[in-house]
Amino acid sequence: MTIGIWVLGNQLWAGQAALASMANRDAPVLLVESTQFAQDRPYHPQKLILVWSAMRHFADTLKTEGWSVTYAMTDDTEAALQDWIRQHQIHELRVMDPVDHPFLAWLQGLALPCEVAILDNNHFLWSAADFQTWASARKGLLLESFYREGRRRFGVLMAGDQPEGGQWNFDKDNRQPPKGKLNPPDPQWFEPDAITQAVIEKVETLDIPTFGQATPFRWGVTRDQALQVLDVFITERLATFGPYQDAMVTGEDTMWHALLSPYLNLGLLQPMEVIQRVEDAYRNGDFPLNSVEGFIRQVLGWREYMRGLYHHFGADYAQSNGFGHHRPLPDFFWTGDTPMNCLHQVIDQTQRTGYAHHIQRLMILSNFALIAGLNPQAVESWFHAAFIDAYDWVMQTNVLGMGLFADGGRLASKPYAASANYVNRMGDYCKGCRYNPKERTGETACPFNFFYWDFLHRHRATLQAQGRMSFILKNLDKMTTEELNAIQAQAQAWHRRWGHPVEMSSPVN
Ligand SMILES: Cc1cc2nc3c(=O)[nH]c(=O)nc-3n(C[C@H](O)[C@H](O)[C@H](O)COP(=O)(O)OP(=O)(O)OC[C@H]3O[C@@H](n4cnc5c(N)ncnc54)[C@H](O)[C@@H]3O)c2cc1C
Ligand code: SF4
Repeated sequence: MTIGIWVLGNQLWAGQAALASMANRDAPVLLVESTQFAQDRPYHPQKLILVWSAMRHFADTLKTEGWSVTYAMTDDTEAALQDWIRQHQIHELRVMDPVDHPFLAWLQGLALPCEVAILDNNHFLWSAADFQTWASARKGLLLESFYREGRRRFGVLMAGDQPEGGQWNFDKDNRQPPKGKLNPPDPQWFEPDAITQAVIEKVETLDIPTFGQATPFRWGVTRDQALQVLDVFITERLATFGPYQDAMVTGEDTMWHALLSPYLNLGLLQPMEVIQRVEDAYRNGDFPLNSVEGFIRQVLGWREYMRGLYHHFGADYAQSNGFGHHRPLPDFFWTGDTPMNCLHQVIDQTQRTGYAHHIQRLMILSNFALIAGLNPQAVESWFHAAFIDAYDWVMQTNVLGMGLFADGGRLASKPYAASANYVNRMGDYCKGCRYNPKERTGETACPFNFFYWDFLHRHRATLQAQGRMSFILKNLDKMTTEELNAIQAQAQAWHRRWGHPVEMSSPVN
């Protein structure tokens, strides 16, 4: 009986469950570099280059380690899989759980001439079953309690049964605005080798829709390079990661962020090794606990939580649209061509690199999409096209849940909606903008302001039910009728400019 292993493009770790299930490496292994999925929806060309180059490198690594590897290049994934199964007379196909609902459904729908064994995905710390057990035992699914449970369960940053430093969370020491001259270190980038160069040429000549620039391509494509990025993060970025976690500065695409999500999401790095390296650095070095804890919360808390909830909420979550937002994306999301400087800067950077840091994604891109009433599924598709680290499991909960509150608060306790005040406080984009972050109406009023107040007004009844919104709604109550009508009229004028149908909420009398 022949067992065959199909290694998916985001499972590039020698210890992944399907490979690890064959102790003596005597199973044929398949990797499929398929253009099929890239024809169905646009991707960032750097994402295609990253994934395909990392797959080619990983296939070579497996060969060196003694595996018999077939590397198929195709535009028909199923045909390549069927051919390989027949050629190797495979009786049992082993695949590690792809995690993404659409891909799993596609895989389960294939009529293959062999048994298919889907093994639990071991690229996460929590198995889907353990998350289910945790979630079903409680009413509220708060990140904070999940994170604390993770700290205890995996023995991370603990002093006996207490949190290191006597506190679970040092967030109040983080989130500093960027005051004065900041000098974030250069990111760890790499020159493309011959394999990557060949993939760049392939992607540049493919006739498929994409978003952004293929070059310069400077991401790492091997585990060794990913480990280098981790090293550089710890030595040059970790100490300052905490305080400026939320800050945005023109021309500083990455600030002190780790740039690890592309590698973690491909399996080139494992979450526990990243966490342990950071905790070891703290225990053996001189790193402030607010930065160390802040970073560990992202990987041990947020990343695992998002994957757990994605599985827990199920495939229907992708259709969430709690606010009933239906407007299409204005063209500038695809071109970056807008006088709103914050959006222009972040979209331009994403076109160049496939990367934006968390606050740029949350408080510029998705915040704007939320307050302008853009359709959540169109926004999610855009994020999927735009980012180098985008996968269904991480997009749905981040974009629909955290970014757009489209799930009606199943994930977040209040919408991350903000006016220009936030953007102006946490970054310097407003200084170079033709709009005034302090004006709510008028020719130079910042659109983040009139869309924000228009959003609060349109959804007042729904938001009233969110206890955490009552303070801000009181400010809405204080607004004069004239001002509120002017705000609505200005928001509508902008929608007309983008060719959107008029969706007037009732004017205030
Ligand atoms: C609207 C929106 C869309 C997002 N889309 C993606 C996406 O497509 N892919 C993706 O990996 N992350 C996504 N995130 C989460 C987060 O913004 C990115 O993981 C992070 O910006 C990656 O950059 P970094 O490695 O420099 O992260 P750092 O800020 O240095 O954080 C360290 C690590 O923590 C993890 N992490 C932190 N926050 C999250 C989170 N909310 N969800 C999952 N992991 C997290 C990541 O693995 C990240 O590498 C999104 C967040 C929002 C609000
Ligand atoms: S003024 Fe408004 S549009 Fe301009 S950068 Fe500031 S928040 Fe963005």
